[in-house]
Amino acid sequence: MSDEVQSEAAAVPIEDAAVFKGYREPCVSVMRRFGVTVWCDVIAETTRGRFEGLILPRSETSDELHLVLKLESGYNVGIRHDTIESLRKTGYREASYKIPEKAFPVDAGKPRVRLFGTGGTIASRLDYRTGAVIPAFSPGELYGSVPELADICNLETEKLFGIFSENMGPPQYLILAEKIGEAIREGYDGVVIGHGTDTMHYTSAALSFMVQGSPVPIVMVGSQRSSDRPSSDAAQNLINATWAAAHGDIAEVIVCMFGPTSDRYNLLHRGTRVRKMHSSYRSTFRTLGDIPLAMVERDEITPLKDDYARRREDREVTVRAKFDDRVGFIYYYPGMKADVIESLIDAGYRGIVIAGTGLGHVNRLAYPALEKARKAGVQVYMTLQTLWGFVQMHVYETGREILEEGVIPLANMLPETAYVKLGWALACHPDDPAKVRELMTTPIAGDMTEREPHDGYLVFQGGVPEMKAFLGKVWS
Ligand code: ASP
Repeated sequence: MSDEVQSEAAAVPIEDAAVFKGYREPCVSVMRRFGVTVWCDVIAETTRGRFEGLILPRSETSDELHLVLKLESGYNVGIRHDTIESLRKTGYREASYKIPEKAFPVDAGKPRVRLFGTGGTIASRLDYRTGAVIPAFSPGELYGSVPELADICNLETEKLFGIFSENMGPPQYLILAEKIGEAIREGYDGVVIGHGTDTMHYTSAALSFMVQGSPVPIVMVGSQRSSDRPSSDAAQNLINATWAAAHGDIAEVIVCMFGPTSDRYNLLHRGTRVRKMHSSYRSTFRTLGDIPLAMVERDEITPLKDDYARRREDREVTVRAKFDDRVGFIYYYPGMKADVIESLIDAGYRGIVIAGTGLGHVNRLAYPALEKARKAGVQVYMTLQTLWGFVQMHVYETGREILEEGVIPLANMLPETAYVKLGWALACHPDDPAKVRELMTTPIAGDMTEREPHDGYLVFQGGVPEMKAFLGKVWS
């Protein structure tokens, strides 16, 4: 939230319900009793001590028992109505949630970066009436609130969409890919894409296939916590992503998000190997089956790998913005019946990606459907629910039988990556299944790797002695 003070409105009509913004009984009575409203600065004496802060509006969907104060520290505190002994008004500050669009200072010596906004929490603020996080900040407002960006580059922004990433999909991928191509040809030194985190890995994979051979970094960034929260990761992520786009050497589609153990640095992940792994932690993105490409800390990028495409001076880039959305994606479960797959075939889907168990398995019940798919010319690809490791369908009889039904193994391609790659490949070769298969089984953007390095598989298990010792060091 911007705590910008807009006006001094001393005389607030206390009988007007609107001034209680979202509060209900019993809190409204408490506020009336002490002659205060939302946006009053107050000193609250309570049975739990004294608090000084600004009364914030209350979300209508939150409980009716607490009054919320924004403290000087920036943290919000909820005070239960029946602990309040007195509320003394010391001022009135109606906060503005609008961050002014700021004209970006131009410095001819700095790189030019194009920031495309698509929405998501990184471009959000809280709507205190409903408690919902709504996409509201334009990229211009966003950098108005993160002035450090001006030290890094000349940033030009364009808001393409204002949606949460659950609403991103193939139509948006195509627009983004074309826009990125244009920006590269126009001479920008890097591209940043603000995006919701939930499906960022689908979009990063889609862009990795649609925009190939870029001479400059294409950096996707999001945030897990909106910028009105003290623990927001929005500014750090944006600053580091912009640095990676402006000054970094990795000319690939990459995701720049919070590092794993501290708020010191961000990680750069390859777009086809990254996945959101936690619903709320800021360090939610992980490179799977490999290590991340690099660390970024303010003005320093430390590569962790060497096998990446380097920045170039030319403006050559291949944009293949296509997607056939007749692709289904099935997470296999024990007991799954053939009709789950058959219904996709009957509905005219042209390709199916399965996330199978273990080394790439489904049950026998599915075999008739796999046969039906083969006869109907619907390609079926196998990926893994285990997320780490390789599909190996020659090990067990089940795997061999599934292979005989024409199912195509996809090595260690992540299921989400396989889904978007198949939609793209089918659109690239609408009438040539052999070419689709060839494209799918050839790594083109790090989507499949030769092997998984031993430190490419790390899932910490808490409680065990060695991990306690390690965490003790990290957190001490
Ligand atoms: N649901 C939001 C989105 O993906 C969450 C976020 O932005 O992190 O757009």
